Amino acid sequence: MKHVLIVGAGAAGIMAALAAAEAGAKVTVFEKNDIVGKKMGITGKGRCNLTNTCPMSEFIARTPGNGKFLFSAYGRFSNTDLRAKLRRWGLETVEERGGRVFPVSQSAVEVRKFFYRVLRDKGVTLCLNEAVESIYEENGRWFVEAAAGKTAGDACIIATGGVSYPVTGSTGDGYRFAVLQGHTLKELKPSLVPFVSPHKWVHDLSGLSLKNVEATLWKGRKKIDSRFGEMIFTHFGVSGPVILLLSTAAAHKGKAEFPMELVINLKPALSEEKMLARLKRDFEKYERKQMENAMRDLLPHRLIPVVLARAGVAADLQASQLPAAARRQIAYVLQNLQLTVTGTRPIEEAVVTAGGVSVKEISPQTMESKLVPHLYFAGEVMDIDALTGGYNLQAAFSTGYVAGTAAALQEDE
Ligand SMILES: Cc1cc2nc3c(=O)[nH]c(=O)nc-3n(C[C@H](O)[C@H](O)[C@H](O)COP(=O)(O)OP(=O)(O)OC[C@H]3O[C@@H](n4cnc5c(N)ncnc54)[C@H](O)[C@@H]3O)c2cc1C
Repeated sequence: MKHVLIVGAGAAGIMAALAAAEAGAKVTVFEKNDIVGKKMGITGKGRCNLTNTCPMSEFIARTPGNGKFLFSAYGRFSNTDLRAKLRRWGLETVEERGGRVFPVSQSAVEVRKFFYRVLRDKGVTLCLNEAVESIYEENGRWFVEAAAGKTAGDACIIATGGVSYPVTGSTGDGYRFAVLQGHTLKELKPSLVPFVSPHKWVHDLSGLSLKNVEATLWKGRKKIDSRFGEMIFTHFGVSGPVILLLSTAAAHKGKAEFPMELVINLKPALSEEKMLARLKRDFEKYERKQMENAMRDLLPHRLIPVVLARAGVAADLQASQLPAAARRQIAYVLQNLQLTVTGTRPIEEAVVTAGGVSVKEISPQTMESKLVPHLYFAGEVMDIDALTGGYNLQAAFSTGYVAGTAAALQEDE
């Protein structure tokens, strides 16, 4: 019977342990926290977006960080395989808007506790509160060293995650282990992270959220990406779903360095002509009002002075006095509200870490190192990252499953 050692009990390490145990191996998991799946317990705004129901080809398209590397892992352990397994182990899931899959309990903490129970049921040895200090291979055996001593096994799986949200235990230790084994690290960058903007007017709008806007990120004349949906102004800049998605594009588009320009179309459903017609109608309806009150049907009131200032229109001007050229200027600003983005919030605040252990040195079929036999990788520690929607957890589960199975069934050298 093979003895598989796993460093890290996040989504990837947990699934690797369960797969290895089901494949007949003895499994020991080392986790520095006193619980398993600490990060999983805060995912999906506390609801845990486990995966998505879209075809696996779309998973790959929504994984800008080396999606194609996951093709084989998804072939072996897909979203439907995951849901079937979870059901067999006792966790029911439900599909919601956008194909997002959540536990029926709607509780990420329940998911974390569920996995703890399954790990115990499957006979996995859990070494909690054990921060692994080093891993090494000697005479064909793998050793995992922690303060409590060293443990020997036939294979070692590094599933230590990235460096985002370090309070959950993901502090990048696995990168050090990998580099010491000769692996290459691709530059770490924050992904799915808010943007920082220097403008006072942006900070002053802190707390204001906008729905159904289109935000486009530009580097000079090069369009980086464009997204439709919700965003929010904060005391440091901008955040929310569309901004997080744009940050992923910023992390992946080669030379796209900050500063960049963010252009917000507050009325993306209207053509230029319809926008002008709408303004004309509103200003006729409110002709006796001052401009700051004549736009209340159109915009949240906190945004009105910002738009007027940028259009060069006095807030106390009576709507009936507004020249046609100024109306065009307002229409333009409404569809091109521009702000400078000087950077992102720190990587610790990112939902995922882009970059990590180079996937060129890992077999996509088994997750085994191409450099060192019987060393495996799973999850975010590798140079993979995806958009929001359940794709990151599925990547962790699929690579964990593949690594765990391969490590349990590996041939002796
Ligand atoms: C706020 C937030 C919300 C998210 N929501 C979602 C979502 O809804 N859906 C989705 O798909 N993705 C989501 N993600 C992303 C997803 O959580 C991660 O991509 C995923 O958890 C990665 O799993 P992992 O097992 O590779 O790493 P991790 O979950 O980071 O687990 C790594 C584990 O290794 C342990 N470890 C590290 N070093 C050592 C060591 N030296 N010794 C022992 N143990 C060690 C850590 O303590 C940790 O438990 C979210 C992320 C965040 C931060």
